Amino acid sequence: MNEQQVRTRFITTILGGPAVLNKMNNFLKAKSRCPDCHASFLAFEDGTCFCFSCKATFPIVEGTPVLIRHENEVFPIQAYLKNEKKVLEKPSLSELVPSPSVNLRLTDNLKKFAAVLEGFESAAVLVLGSGKQRRWLDQFFSGTKDTLLVYCDVDAQALLDLFCDGHDLPFMDNTFHGVIATAVLEHVLYPERVVSEIYRVLVPGGIVYSEIPFMQQVHEGAYDFTRYTLSGHRRLFNHFFELSSGLIAGPGTALVWAIENFSLCFTRGPLSRSFVKAGIRFIFFWIKYFDYLFKDSAQAIDAASCTYFLGRKDMQYKTSDKTIIERYGGAQHCSHLYEEVGSRT
Ligand SMILES: [Zn+2]
Repeated sequence: MNEQQVRTRFITTILGGPAVLNKMNNFLKAKSRCPDCHASFLAFEDGTCFCFSCKATFPIVEGTPVLIRHENEVFPIQAYLKNEKKVLEKPSLSELVPSPSVNLRLTDNLKKFAAVLEGFESAAVLVLGSGKQRRWLDQFFSGTKDTLLVYCDVDAQALLDLFCDGHDLPFMDNTFHGVIATAVLEHVLYPERVVSEIYRVLVPGGIVYSEIPFMQQVHEGAYDFTRYTLSGHRRLFNHFFELSSGLIAGPGTALVWAIENFSLCFTRGPLSRSFVKAGIRFIFFWIKYFDYLFKDSAQAIDAASCTYFLGRKDMQYKTSDKTIIERYGGAQHCSHLYEEVGSRT
């Protein structure tokens, strides 16, 4: 059984069976948009998706639509057609030891996210760059009323409903009531374009939850492009009304990552790399727990390993650049302006 069959079997046997698949298929049929010409509605038939407007076809590979723009050179459609059996990922040594990172607020933030969804009669949530999050997100949202989670990614190893690229979301405007993008936007070539797509597919009043790293070393090889401070994270989402933002992981986590990456410089190959990584995590993972002490520290904001942004799509709203400067919550209070005359007492 290859990876795709494993995914399909996982969805059908663990997550609710054909009813879930039918609901998903109906949703995709009703809300899809051509990644090439942006025309609404794709026809799903005979193992392909077809655009009535530009006549483009997109494959459905073992039940999973590949809705990627034909000119996408980084994630070409042909790469998802290969019949070769993928090598299943083997658990690495470092997965057998404690993680080097904490997440101080994910559960609380998702509870707030779910509370906003309760305001809609029924809700659709896009999980962008879903990876393996399906394993726990479905369970998390199982208590919320009538919520459909749509998982998408470009990663062939992900547990997903469709392949698509965040730069060209194959959905009509105002489709989703929520979008989740955790540790995704550092891995896309043009984050502002992806955020603009998130804004487009959200309904007015819809909610977005984003996590982006700041002080973290490269962690996905060639697919790792950008880091953001908390202020930068806010600026990226400046067309959303901010509900809250702040620290996800602080300098404790950043320090474990730094020790690990310093030590990895002494390694020569994948095997020694794997041993050193696991060994360093096993010896130093406890440092990450200092982040619970630093949870509300201004200094920790300046040295964050990762930050979050929770915001609502509000058509009338845009955070001004000046406001972003004024909302800075770190410890380094400086100004590049002349002080106002008479401000010194
Ligand atoms: Zn088209």
